[in-house]
Amino acid sequence: MQETIVIIGAGQAGAQVAQSLRQGGFEGPVRLIGDETAPPYQRPPLSKKYLLGEIGTEALFLRPPAFYTTQNIDLIPGTSVASIDTSGKRVVLERGDTISYGKLVIATGTRARKAPIPGSELDGVVTLRTIADVDAIRERLLTGQKIAIIGAGYIGLEVAAVAKQLGKDVTVIEAQDRPMKRVVSPVISEFYTLLHRGKGVELLLETGVEAIEGEGAVRSVRTSTGKTVPADLVLIAIGAEPNDELATDAGLETDNGILVDGAGATSDEAVYAAGDCTRFYSNRYGRSVRMESVQNAIDQGKVVAQAILGEDVDYDPLPWFWSDQYDIKLQIAGLSDGYDETRVVGDTNVGKFFVAYLKGGRLIAVDSVNSPRSHMMARRVIGETWRDDLLPESA
Ligand code: FAD
Repeated sequence: MQETIVIIGAGQAGAQVAQSLRQGGFEGPVRLIGDETAPPYQRPPLSKKYLLGEIGTEALFLRPPAFYTTQNIDLIPGTSVASIDTSGKRVVLERGDTISYGKLVIATGTRARKAPIPGSELDGVVTLRTIADVDAIRERLLTGQKIAIIGAGYIGLEVAAVAKQLGKDVTVIEAQDRPMKRVVSPVISEFYTLLHRGKGVELLLETGVEAIEGEGAVRSVRTSTGKTVPADLVLIAIGAEPNDELATDAGLETDNGILVDGAGATSDEAVYAAGDCTRFYSNRYGRSVRMESVQNAIDQGKVVAQAILGEDVDYDPLPWFWSDQYDIKLQIAGLSDGYDETRVVGDTNVGKFFVAYLKGGRLIAVDSVNSPRSHMMARRVIGETWRDDLLPESA
């Protein structure tokens, strides 16, 4: 009889591991434990079409619920794992019972970062990570008129776009001097600043938050510049933190993420990890990376299943990501940090262009705005030659 594989976290990565194990011919027990009630689902539409009300819950599901039955994957939803006993090779559930494993995969993802801002506990102050979060946000969006968003990263800006499309008054408050500063170049930030302001979003840059105000329920946000922003709903969108405490408490090596090698193996030989909760060394980028993307969850999930099945694997992907705001699609290939030169091709005024990022003359990343062709080519070219003269001449 083959050993039992237990997976903690029934999200994008966890579900991928389970599916790939079956595709790879594994016939032993697979138990997929998730603390959410829904079957595994994709999160990207949460801040896009799902929030807008264009698609329903079932359209989010990665597989129809019957898939897990037919594949003999024991999906255990609504169940939180409280701890891992690596010497006894079992996980302890919050409700008290235990589940034994031969191999364990931790795929617990991330959680929205909380802000140490006075007033964060007021009714109407929210974060966005789950279906339940969005259902609560949508209800408030439909009744309230004024929404304040703290943080001009992808999620904050995507929600700003949806709220604007729903006819709301939207203010985005960002501490940095430009939106999405951590991940894109000034050209892209400038484009999105103009885009959102053009749609009527009030985008406050270089502005901190002193306090969220209200009695019981939120009423306004007081900024570091002394401005009072009225709000029926405040979304805090200042990034995510890895759910790596289970691993740390079990004695596994962690460092802002569960440390894994190219096979997704942790410091315990029976435990693997995949997805947003992991950190690994990338030879491609010469440093350790922790990624938060569908690409990483899927690809690392596949690699972990292969490793468990005994294949020789070494994961070092070309990362890619996307963000939809209004009718504009931003697609990112590669990691651009550390670039020393950029080349802009296309027309920023008509919103169809791409930015190539070079380091020491080598292409390391490409951000494409409404230019899927350059994105697809970049994914091939960066991966193979690192030269930017193979990119298209126009967007
Ligand atoms: P998750 O999908 O978060 O799954 C982890 C699961 O583990 C969760 O269900 C969690 O509740 C569960 N869990 C945690 N602890 C326990 C425990 N102790 N016991 C049991 N279960 C537990 N990526 C893109 O590439 N493009 C996008 O446009 C994009 N948009 C996004 C928009 C939003 C609003 C969000 C939130 C994310 C977006 N992402 C996007 C990121 C992408 O969704 C994640 O990178 C991906 O979901 C990571 O998969 P994962 O399996 O590692 O984590």
